[in-house]
Amino acid sequence: MTTRVQNALDQLKTNGVRITPQRHAILTYLMESMGHPTADEIYRALEPRFPSMSVATVYNNLKMFLEAGMVRELTYGDNSSRFDADVSDHYHVICQSCGKIRDFNYEPLTEVERKAEQSTGFRVFGHRMEFYGVCNDCRGH
Ligand SMILES: [Zn+2]
Ligand SMILES: [Zn+2]
Repeated sequence: MTTRVQNALDQLKTNGVRITPQRHAILTYLMESMGHPTADEIYRALEPRFPSMSVATVYNNLKMFLEAGMVRELTYGDNSSRFDADVSDHYHVICQSCGKIRDFNYEPLTEVERKAEQSTGFRVFGHRMEFYGVCNDCRGH
C-alpha cells in the first residue's frame, strides 16, 4: 500500500469514517490508476473481488471522498464524470478516442484568473483547462 493511500485512510478514520474493504479498494484503485476513471470503470474493475458490490456503492463512496476533499470530480455534462485522486493544481490531456485522461503538470495560470477578474469584475476562484488529442494506445491502431 502506498503512503498516499495510507494517509487518505488515516484521514478518513480521523473523520470517523469506517474503513470497509470495499471503501479501501475503491480508494486504492482511484489513487493508483492514472487514467481518471469513471464510477462505472471503478465498479467493473472491482466487481470480480466484490461481487455483492453495486454501482450505487461506488457512487456513495465517491461522494463521501468528494465531501472529504480527497477526490476531485471532473464533470462532462452527462453521466460520465471522471474522478481524480490528485486534488493539487494540475492540467489534463484528454484522449478524444478513448476518453482517457492524463495529468499534465504546468505552473497554474493564476495570472489569467486575475485578467479575467479585471475584465469581468467577477471574483474568480479557479479555472479548468483541458487539452485534447489522441493517446499512444489509440494512435497505434
Ligand atoms: Zn486513447
Ligand atoms: Zn488529474
